[in-house]
Amino acid sequence: MRVALYPGSFDPITLGHLDVIERASKLFDRLIIAVATNTKKAPYINASARIDLIKACTQHLKNVDVTEFNGLTIQFAKASQAQVIIRGLRAVSDFEFEFKMSQMNKSLDSSIETLFMMAGLDYQFLSSSLVKEVAQFGGDISKAVPAPVAEYLKQHHPPPALAP
Ligand code: ADP
Repeated sequence: MRVALYPGSFDPITLGHLDVIERASKLFDRLIIAVATNTKKAPYINASARIDLIKACTQHLKNVDVTEFNGLTIQFAKASQAQVIIRGLRAVSDFEFEFKMSQMNKSLDSSIETLFMMAGLDYQFLSSSLVKEVAQFGGDISKAVPAPVAEYLKQHHPPPALAP
């Protein structure tokens, strides 16, 4: 059984992430989306809501599971019996960080391969942080995130009322 792990903060999941998930789910028997809970950044959306949102956005994909994890990704991949770690690569911005990370992971456990998937053309400049920035001030993020995320942000992080 070919198992892949797609780790990330997903704070929140965007259409760019979902595109990678849909493409990767076709390549593996099982795809585990692992939501990191021990990042240095304070999360905008708490871990259980991030997980629920990913589940809502991936319910059409029968071989996809969503779980949270903390600690080293490579150890979690091993414990999950994944042979592959999936990461997304956007134009220019991700390369250096992802390259370093994959080299480090290789040195920690050479039996697990990192597989990079290029971001879809429409999502090259899309990031969770941009989404948060725009949503925070009431901008339209419906072309950047799946519908359940847009709805969640509207309800839980409404923009402040504009001063007259
Ligand atoms: P992390 O904090 O681990 O970088 P993210 O949720 O920001 O978590 O990203 C998880 C993975 O998804 C990373 O490999 C990142 O490069 C990738 N990714 C982020 N945004 C996009 C996008 N728009 N298209 C494709 N991949 C993306």
